Amino acid sequence: MIFISNRKPKYIQSVLFDFDGTISLIRQGWQDVMIPYFAEVLLKTPHAGTAQEEYRCATEFIELTTGKQTIYQCMQLNDEVVKRGGDAVDPSLYKNEYSKRLMLHIEHRRQSLLSGVTDPDHMMIPGARRFLETLVERNLNLYLASGTDHEYVMEEASLLDVAKYFKGNIFGAKDDLLLNSKAMVIQKILKEQQLSGTTLAGFGDGYVEIENVKDVGGIAIGIAGHEANPSTGWDEWKKRRLTQAGADALVMDFTDIDAIIDYLFKGGFYETD
Ligand SMILES: [Mg+2]
Repeated sequence: MIFISNRKPKYIQSVLFDFDGTISLIRQGWQDVMIPYFAEVLLKTPHAGTAQEEYRCATEFIELTTGKQTIYQCMQLNDEVVKRGGDAVDPSLYKNEYSKRLMLHIEHRRQSLLSGVTDPDHMMIPGARRFLETLVERNLNLYLASGTDHEYVMEEASLLDVAKYFKGNIFGAKDDLLLNSKAMVIQKILKEQQLSGTTLAGFGDGYVEIENVKDVGGIAIGIAGHEANPSTGWDEWKKRRLTQAGADALVMDFTDIDAIIDYLFKGGFYETD
């Protein structure tokens, strides 16, 4: 565990988790589907740059919007297409094509979980289940918020058998974009619990959730291990990006549970400086 800020969590009551790349590995490699597809769309525009330039452009804006609902990335793609002299289209067309390609990429994982061939723990960030169980035992309120469409998040949370830890508090992307954004979910948590943002801890591997948790004064912990091969080392890019987003601490995964629990609670709920 790497500590970035000097802040010490106090009286943490609620814990917010991102899903893909934070708990679930079912969609691991989604960037390898989205980036080439978006670059392909940009290359077909009248004033396209080189393949390398368009690939870089797609990579940059996708990275910066990681954690937001997928449609935002498609809206930005639409803007980039128009900038290059292409026609504006309904961004959901891009989203549908991307979803189709991603499903081809991950269907075998969903099937192998469904049929019981794969142990769900093997398709999760190492240590995630034990960590979730530990938080439940401590009577924390757990929330799951994802930029992936709500029905898929529900399906995949049940394939991984983790839905039970969140007691109905699972929020995926809906057509009404404001409805389940991570910022909105955070507001809902604080309102329901009638607590200040400093009692919230958030775990995520994307810019957006780290920023949203920091915006309300919460403690943000970035997950920055190699997603394709968890526990083998840090993903230097994620480390840098999550640090820039304002993470208070970084972990590779959840295997060093004692360090994370110690950091969050220091052995008690009411720890103060
Ligand atoms: Mg994520």
